[in-house]
Amino acid sequence: MSFFRLDKPVQFLKGVGPVRAEALGRMGIVTARDLLYHVPRRYDDASTIQSIAEVEIGTDATVVGRVRSTGVIPTRKGLRIFQAVLKDHSGMITCAWPGQPWLERKLQKGDLLLATGPVKFFHGRQLRPREFSILGRNLDDTTGEESEIGHIFATYPASEEVPQWVLRGLFKKNLDLLLSNVIEEEYLSADEQRVYSLPSLPESLGVLHRPTSLEGVEEARRRLAYDELFFLQLVQARARYRETIQKQGIVFGRTDELIRPLHEALPFRLTTAQARVLREIYSDMGSSRRMNRLLQGDVGSGKTVVALFSMLLAVEAGYQAVLMAPTELLAEQHARSMRKLMEPLGIEVYVLTGQLAAPDRRETLSALREGTATLVVGTQALIQKNVEFRKLGMVVVDEQHRFGVRQRMVFGDRENPPDILIMSATPIPRSLAMALYGDLDLSVLDEMPKGRKPIRTFLRYPNERKDVYQFVEEELKKGHQAYVVYPLVAESDKMDMRSATEGYERLTEATFGHRRVGLLHGQLSSEIKDQVMRGFLAGEIDVLVATTVIEVGIDVPNASVMVIEHAERFGLSQLHQLRGRVGRGATESHCILIADPGEVAAERLKIFCNTSDGFAVARADLRLRGQGDLFGAQQHGRDPVLRFADLSMDEELLMEAHNRARSVVNVDPDLQGEDMSLIKKLMDHRYAEKLKLFSVG
Ligand code: ADP
Ligand code: MG
Repeated sequence: MSFFRLDKPVQFLKGVGPVRAEALGRMGIVTARDLLYHVPRRYDDASTIQSIAEVEIGTDATVVGRVRSTGVIPTRKGLRIFQAVLKDHSGMITCAWPGQPWLERKLQKGDLLLATGPVKFFHGRQLRPREFSILGRNLDDTTGEESEIGHIFATYPASEEVPQWVLRGLFKKNLDLLLSNVIEEEYLSADEQRVYSLPSLPESLGVLHRPTSLEGVEEARRRLAYDELFFLQLVQARARYRETIQKQGIVFGRTDELIRPLHEALPFRLTTAQARVLREIYSDMGSSRRMNRLLQGDVGSGKTVVALFSMLLAVEAGYQAVLMAPTELLAEQHARSMRKLMEPLGIEVYVLTGQLAAPDRRETLSALREGTATLVVGTQALIQKNVEFRKLGMVVVDEQHRFGVRQRMVFGDRENPPDILIMSATPIPRSLAMALYGDLDLSVLDEMPKGRKPIRTFLRYPNERKDVYQFVEEELKKGHQAYVVYPLVAESDKMDMRSATEGYERLTEATFGHRRVGLLHGQLSSEIKDQVMRGFLAGEIDVLVATTVIEVGIDVPNASVMVIEHAERFGLSQLHQLRGRVGRGATESHCILIADPGEVAAERLKIFCNTSDGFAVARADLRLRGQGDLFGAQQHGRDPVLRFADLSMDEELLMEAHNRARSVVNVDPDLQGEDMSLIKKLMDHRYAEKLKLFSVG
């Protein structure tokens, strides 16, 4: 088996013995490549580092200097303070760490230290480092104090066992060798580098370890980000090729026999976005290419109608079409709204869920087998083994909010696989959609039907809770219903939170003692959940106290107000999904967030209050929270899929990677050409494991 030189264990490198190799291993650095890609997490230059002489009391400062002396000073109260005097070309300052006398064993005279923290007055200027790192030990470090001006200081992610200065020492000894070894992994030709304005791989890694300017660092990051995005898109482009291009799709002939009557019967005009998306879908369905499309649209943007028209095209052409929903309740809801439109046209909508009584089930199954059932709505029950279709042509999968969870290409292994349309109610930024679903073609409903009343969103503090519930009571008096949402199911030891259960008890005891209050959370059995939801739907419950389980597309138009407790605990996209449960009827609706005043999150929540566009909310969320958990960064022991790419700012780069991956695959899907051999090798050896989640089948 061939492999790259950088696959060798770190122990082959200079300065790495068995003990250090183990310590590095505990940081996730096992191979030489792991070390090379272990790049600094922070860079400081003249724009952040001050000369020591300029540091002022009452400010926050970052300085770099050599340790001239150290010592532990006891105070009268018995607190021991570690102190170090730092010197750079301009002067000296004392750094003090109260209560950390053990630092005496870590910091030595002669160490080159980077320190950031507030500057206090205490026998002169005293810096209290919030963060510090030892950039170098005196012994072999030749960085003179004078040459530190204009220098950039990089801080590596380090550990107790492998401190900053050890890492720096390792790079000093090995970086040139590592860089010369990475040359064999450069898969972008000089021309391509120019076209994408990306530096070469050795150049980029060199700059990240030996920065000369922050601009250079950013360019280098972009290069490594491109690599991640390109290989991710390549995996997806190949999946798309297998599912979409390689498999012959059905060419649906349009007769307008059903589509036209539906247009005429529709009580509203399609939005421009709906019309555009339908053109995209019709064009896919009319071609011999198999459709594999993601339909994205905010809650209420009218995805169901789009799905229905697409299904009718299949039915017109003599095929069966199904819509698969994530829950029974949602399946029934879809069936209800479709029946309203289909009954006048004399088309029956069939339902297949797990709850169907045996005789009904038998009847439906035989209608599917014989082909008399043309429009079918259901749950996972639709993909059980015993379900047979006579001529299945089109499958719509309603994923609701579960984006990120890969929907397997259901029905894909049949002889004549149907066209697929996946609907997602989570308005995610285009870059995120591309990264998560790059193997699907994308249609976006970015426009709401006219005449929607906006949901008014407010932020309130806990001490205003009484007024908030007073307001809810007024809505209830008008005959409306309300949601109260809590972040946790049961009380946790760590956090002082009102769990849904606790909240339910309090609300039923006092505030809404005279009201019918229901409780809904994930720990309840699905029968009970169903029962509660049906009660709320039927208006038998006034106030529904719930956790996020109500997120999924439940439609109760009479609910006009939602209170979200501990709103700071939710992500903005999640809040938006929750908020979408109200504002579904004719009256003006309200969403009231209750959050602690001290929360830094308040700024975030204010953005949310002022933004009703789900895509804008999602972009803000991505910018503020990052993409971490979506790509496995939080999963233990997994190299995160995206370490360098940041989807909130790298959209353009992603598009380039996406387009290049698709054109590569269109020409050479199995990457068998001579010019693809390095890409294939990198893919198999470097990225396969990491990108497993994204490869289908
Ligand atoms: P989604 O599934 O995208 O959340 P739905 O398809 O459930 O949204 O549509 C929400 C509501 O809007 C439904 O009552 C639907 O009948 C209505 N609707 C859909 N399209 C339009 C339109 N173009 N104009 C007016 N109302 C529409
Ligand atoms: Mg819907």
